[in-house]
Amino acid sequence: MSNPSILILPGDGIGPEVMTEVRKVINWFGEARDIQFDVSEDLVGGAAYDKHGVPLADETMAKAQEVDAVLLGAVGGPAYDDLDFSVKPERGLLRLRKEMDLYANLRPAQCFDALADFSSLKRDIVAGLDIMILRELTSGVYFGEPRGIFEEGNERVGINTQRYTESEIERAARSAFELAMRRNKKVCSMEKANVMESGILWREVATRVAKDYPEVELSHMYADNGAMQLVRAPKQFDVILTDNLFGDILSDCAAMLTGSLGMLPSASLGAPMANGRPKAMYEPVHGSAPDITGQGKANPIACILSFAMALRYSFDMGTEADRLEKAIEKVLSDGARTADLLGEDGVDPISTSEMGDAVVAALQASL
Ligand code: NAD
Repeated sequence: MSNPSILILPGDGIGPEVMTEVRKVINWFGEARDIQFDVSEDLVGGAAYDKHGVPLADETMAKAQEVDAVLLGAVGGPAYDDLDFSVKPERGLLRLRKEMDLYANLRPAQCFDALADFSSLKRDIVAGLDIMILRELTSGVYFGEPRGIFEEGNERVGINTQRYTESEIERAARSAFELAMRRNKKVCSMEKANVMESGILWREVATRVAKDYPEVELSHMYADNGAMQLVRAPKQFDVILTDNLFGDILSDCAAMLTGSLGMLPSASLGAPMANGRPKAMYEPVHGSAPDITGQGKANPIACILSFAMALRYSFDMGTEADRLEKAIEKVLSDGARTADLLGEDGVDPISTSEMGDAVVAALQASL
């Protein structure tokens, strides 16, 4: 069988810097664990615009459709702020998500013990937290028609439409239940069935899908209560299933439970391909961080954790994903900190590449 294939799109700003560290980890798996990947690299965002005049070339899009997983760094930067909307760096990212039909956005909120004091919440509420938010990514109010700003009488009216088909809800729900089967077998579905018909349908379909997963416990919560519970007692959750709009807000809220933007990975998954693997793109939640680009200050952990998600969700290598996450935990508990993780007195920050080296050393020590 051929090696799993990965397309790396480092992008702009700190994207290439953090991706260099992911490369070290990928190489380590090849050398020390004999797990080989066919890795290719291409341009996205401003870097692609500079070369091709578009933020994602058609050939790159075609490659992304063929590989087992896309690993993306970050796009954007001040040099591209004044470009026409149609060629802005972010359009490259949106095109990938749209054409690969990545409908399930996975945002873990995991709080490493060593960093629990970085959260705005009390240590005992977040220490050891490990929850997953599954946000439907390709439908709902951000896409529904009619939309626009219209004249109505003597004033204007702004309209967006929350619209979900049963099949859209069903495929997102299925992804959530599949995830829960690999985790603690709990799904909490969040909507506003008390005031929205789309929420009633959401609840009905989630309940129907649950019948196919008798081992998984399904609960329902109104999304506003969900927001409150996320900051009150986040450890009650395992997998949260929610729509595009609520997921946008709830996942950002959950992100802050864990401290730094430099620690947050994500995955966007689509339908299974012929080889059974889902269409997939993995990327850190953070952007291109122009304020620290080129200074060796970027924290590469969000991007490395995104690769750990690829190991788990695209390549079915859960044990190796655990190994990588434990290596990161060890590095942090030993006190290694990039500048974004400073707070304690008397700790000197290490650089992006030193953090990557430390993770590789901890991987080596895990053998
Ligand atoms: P940002 O995430 O780039 O940065 C926000 C703050 O967090 C900055 O102070 C930055 O230095 C810090 N930060 C981010 N990642 C870090 C890391 N790995 N290590 C250490 N510190 C880190 O968001 P922004 O400043 O609002 O946007 C900058 C550019 O990135 C813009 O062009 C924006 O459009 C783009 N952006 C891209 C993505 C993406 O590619 N997915 C996401 C968000 C923003």
